[in-house]
Amino acid sequence: MNVIEVSGLRYRYGSFAAVDGIDLTVREGEIFALLGTNGAGKTTTLEVVEGFRSPAGGRVRVFGLDPVTDRTRLSARTGVMLQSSGLVGELTVAETLDLWGGLRSRTDDPEALLSTVELLGRRDVAVDKLSGGEQRRLDFALAVWGRPPLLILDEPTTGLDPESRQRLWQTVRALRDSGSTILLTTHYLDEAQSLADHVAIMHQGRIQVAGPLSDVLAGAPSRITASLPFDVPALPAFLGRSTVDGQTLVVETRQVQEDLYALLRWADRYGVRLPDVAASQGSLEEVFLAVSKGA
Ligand code: ATP
Repeated sequence: MNVIEVSGLRYRYGSFAAVDGIDLTVREGEIFALLGTNGAGKTTTLEVVEGFRSPAGGRVRVFGLDPVTDRTRLSARTGVMLQSSGLVGELTVAETLDLWGGLRSRTDDPEALLSTVELLGRRDVAVDKLSGGEQRRLDFALAVWGRPPLLILDEPTTGLDPESRQRLWQTVRALRDSGSTILLTTHYLDEAQSLADHVAIMHQGRIQVAGPLSDVLAGAPSRITASLPFDVPALPAFLGRSTVDGQTLVVETRQVQEDLYALLRWADRYGVRLPDVAASQGSLEEVFLAVSKGA
C-alpha cells in the first residue's frame, strides 16, 4: 500500500519555485530518505506532506487523504519532527512529555520513551537547560509518541553525537520493523545508505535520482584510490578516466576488478609501491556529488 503519493508537486515562495514538479511514492513499512543539496526543497516538500503548506500545483495524498483539508484526521496517525523545535523552555522534560501525551490520541509509556532517548536522568530538568542534542532527542520522543503509523522526520540526527545518532536510527529501524512508515531527510549519506529502503535526491526543486537504494547504488561508479610516489612512469591507458590530485590517484570505474588488476600490474612492472591502494564500492556520496555537480 502507498502511504504517501505525491505527483507533479509545485510550491512557490513568491516567484521562486522551491519545489518544481516532483513525484514520489512512499510505501507502507519502508524508510524513505529524501536527500539533497542545501535549499533543494526537502523541508518545503515535507511541510506540504504534513499539511502545513498548500501546494501551488500537483497532488498530494497521505493515507489517501488530502493533508491540508484532512489535517486533523491525519495528525492522529502521523508523528512529525520539524527542523527546529517548538519546545517550551520553562517546562521540564517530564512535564513536556505529559503535556504532549494529553494532547495526543495515542498513548505511550513516558518512562520507557525517555529511556529510549536517554533522557530518563534528565526528566526533571527544564527544557531550556538541555543541550542542543538533548532537545533534539526530546523532539524525537514527541514525534514517536504512541508509535504512529507514519513518521516524518526533518534532519532528525543533525546535532546528535555519533552514539545518539546510532540509537535514534535503531529506534527508527525498530519502528519500521513493527510496521511504521518513515519519511525523513538527512545530510548524512552514510546513514541513509545503511538504513534507507528507498531514496530520492533533490536539487534545485527537482528530484534528480530516485529508487530503491540498491538500484540507486548500482548506478554509482566504484572508486580506486592510491597515493603515487613522485616521478612515476606513464599511467596505464585506462587511467584516462582518472584524476591525479597532487600525488593522489582517483579512478572512477564500473569495472573495478579489471581496472584494479591493470593498476597493480602496471605498478608491478615498473616497481612502483602503492602502500595505501584501496577500492570501494560506489556509494550514495558519489551519486549525490554527481547530482550536485552535474545536474
Ligand atoms: P536544507 O538542506 O538547507 O535544509 P532544504 O532542501 O530543506 O534545504 P527548503 O528549506 O525547502 O530546502 O528551501 C528550499 C528553497 O526555498 C531555498 O532556496 C530556501 O531559501 C527557500 N525558502 C525556504 N523557506 C522560505 C520562505 N519562508 N520564504 C522564502 N524562501 C524560502
